[in-house]
Amino acid sequence: MKCPTCAADTKVVRTSPKVDSYAPVKRERRCLGVSAHRFQTVESEPLTLDQIGIRRSDSSQIRPYSGGELGANLRRSLMLNLSNTSTAIIEDVVRGVSANLLRNYKRRHQRLSGAERGGHSNLRVVVSDTFIAELVENELDNDSTRVQLVLYALAIRGRHGWSAATDLLQWLQKRFVNLHQPLPAVISPPRSFQWSPPMTMHLPTTVLKKNKRASTPFRYEQFLKSIQYALDGRPGAEETAKMVAAFVLEGLRGQSVIHSTQLAIGVLNCLRQIDDIAYLRCAVVVKNLDSVTMIADETRELMLSPSPRLLFTQPDPKLVETGEPMVS
Ligand SMILES: [Zn+2]
Repeated sequence: MKCPTCAADTKVVRTSPKVDSYAPVKRERRCLGVSAHRFQTVESEPLTLDQIGIRRSDSSQIRPYSGGELGANLRRSLMLNLSNTSTAIIEDVVRGVSANLLRNYKRRHQRLSGAERGGHSNLRVVVSDTFIAELVENELDNDSTRVQLVLYALAIRGRHGWSAATDLLQWLQKRFVNLHQPLPAVISPPRSFQWSPPMTMHLPTTVLKKNKRASTPFRYEQFLKSIQYALDGRPGAEETAKMVAAFVLEGLRGQSVIHSTQLAIGVLNCLRQIDDIAYLRCAVVVKNLDSVTMIADETRELMLSPSPRLLFTQPDPKLVETGEPMVS
C-alpha cells in the first residue's frame, strides 16, 4: 500500500486482533518516506461463497457451500427427472440463494470451533443447513413456483420431522392463510395387510410411452430409481423402494407389454398405502397437481380416507426349505 499523503511505500506497524473471522482488519501503517506519515486502515477482503461452510443439523458435519451441490439436491427434491419442471428454475434458485447468502450470512452465522477451524482452514463463517433451506423456500415462494415450494418442503421436512399428511396440511395452512380451515381429525387406516414378494419377479419387456408411438424396453433399474426419488430420505427408503417395485410388477404379471401410466399409477397407489409423505410427493408429479390448493385438497382427502396399510414382509425362508428339492 502507498502512503495517501506522499505516495511512498508503507509498512504495517500494528494489526488489531480480529473480533470475528469475517470482521475487517484494522491496521496502523507508517510510510517509508522522509516525513514518516502515520495512518490507520480498515481492510476487509470480500467474503466468497467457498469460504462459507454449511453445518448439517442432523450430524453437525460441515461442508463448504457449493452451488453445484445445492442444484443437485434441488433436482432430487423437486423430482426433476420425473416432472416437467424446467431446469431453469434450478439455476434461478441457486443464483438467488448464493446472492442472498453473501448478503445475509452475518445475521445467521455460527462460530467455528477450534477443531472445525483446523479441518476447514479456508472457511471464514458457517451457517446451518436450515438457513439454506429457508433461503431456498424464499426463492421458490412466488406465483409460478409454489408447487415446487411444496415439493421442496416435503423433501426437506420429510427427512426429519414430517411423517404424515397432517404435517403437510398444517404447514400449508400456516404458510398460505387462504387455505385455512379446521384440520380434519386423524383417522386410522381401516385395516392393514401383509405382503411379501414372490420368489421370482415378473418383468415386462416393453413400455409404451404417453403421447408417443415409440415403445422402449422396460428397464428395472430406471423404474426402481423413480420410486427411490419419491421415497428419498424416508426411513428405510432403499428397502421399501425395492418392495414397492416388486409389488407393482406383481400386479402386472402376465403382461409383457405395458403402458408407462400403469407403472406410474401402480407406484402411486402403492405409496398411498405405505407412506403419506412419499405418496404426496409422487401425487404432485404424477397427477400434475398445479396449485397449492389442489395439493391441500389431496392432502385433506388422504387424511379423511386413508388407504389400508400395506406392510411388507420378507418371504418366509421356511417356505423354501420345506419345498420340493429343485431338480434340474
Ligand atoms: Zn508519507
